[in-house]
Amino acid sequence: MTAIVDLRSDTVTQPTTAMRDAMMTALLGDDVFGDDPSVNHLQNTIADLLGFDAALFVSSGTQSNLCAILSHCQRGDEYIVGQFAHCYRWEGGGAAVFGSVQPQPLQHQADGTIALEDIEAAVKPDDAHFARTRLLALENTIGGKLLPFSYLQQATQLAKGKGLATHLDGARLFNAATAQATLTGGDVRREAQRISGCFDSVSVCLSKGLGAPVGSVLCGGHDFIARAHRIRKMAGGGMRQSGMLAAAGTYALDFHVDRLSKDHALAQRLAEGLAGIPDLQVEAPHSNILFVDLVDSAKARSAELIQYLKLRGILVTGLYRLRFVTHLDVDAAGIDRTIEAITKFFGV
Ligand SMILES: *Cc1c(COP(=O)(O)O)cnc(C)c1O
Repeated sequence: MTAIVDLRSDTVTQPTTAMRDAMMTALLGDDVFGDDPSVNHLQNTIADLLGFDAALFVSSGTQSNLCAILSHCQRGDEYIVGQFAHCYRWEGGGAAVFGSVQPQPLQHQADGTIALEDIEAAVKPDDAHFARTRLLALENTIGGKLLPFSYLQQATQLAKGKGLATHLDGARLFNAATAQATLTGGDVRREAQRISGCFDSVSVCLSKGLGAPVGSVLCGGHDFIARAHRIRKMAGGGMRQSGMLAAAGTYALDFHVDRLSKDHALAQRLAEGLAGIPDLQVEAPHSNILFVDLVDSAKARSAELIQYLKLRGILVTGLYRLRFVTHLDVDAAGIDRTIEAITKFFGV
């Protein structure tokens, strides 16, 4: 049987043998008492790496963003956020449900940014009619796109000038840093630190391209992380011997950051392989996520294509557009099989 090529998400990865070894041998303690050395080590490692005072290991990216928004904002505050941002659209409205914090979603530009004028116009005056605008939340990469570094600087400066805190949903921060390093010729970790340096807090998923089985980390100042720690407890996210999971995260930071460029190269290879098919419009990928639209007479065939690929052991999603995500369990042979199958489907 040929192997499955699972391009649905970079969350589907299996921990490698070496990662499992790191988990098996991790030193453990009760993290609710602050006693787990592996959790403490992960938190210190990522805080140092990204240039923050402190970090908090949390169960998921969703929990991380929830802790962040509820630590920056009080009841009756609002956060400015993109219409397609994960922490607005894809988290069940958690900040409103659990925190009585209102989102102020704004349209994106084609490059994933939110126009500076739109941000400025959305900051409410201090008036009893309005929620208090407290926070700007950005996401990078967003839909696989790298936000320009100059934009991050401008948007966060604008926010700070208006008295807002700034949060980055950096679920794929290291993919962003990898893409940025390709542009600047810089070092990936240094780029991750430069991006993070624009923000008061940053959330990073360990369970996406980094290949850990579970977990995210939220980074910020001492007081912010102390507040987030309390929110995490309220959210039921105080974990005990979670060092087994944290050890996988530390392993990922040590060994899976530099390989992300391979995932980006495979997304590029896929884009190039599909570019010649007239029924498809292929968006040039910035990172490990490739979006493809079916056009003209092929428009209605996306469910059929997804099923066709599934029968051939190739898994993709297509809620709005076809989405292909590369990660450490996908190789060049799998990408070539995918190109071949799609080419055959369209009979070219
Ligand atoms: C996946 C993702 C999250 C949430 O992570 P979970 O661990 O699935 O809760 C948050 N933000 C972005 C941008 C993501 O891609």
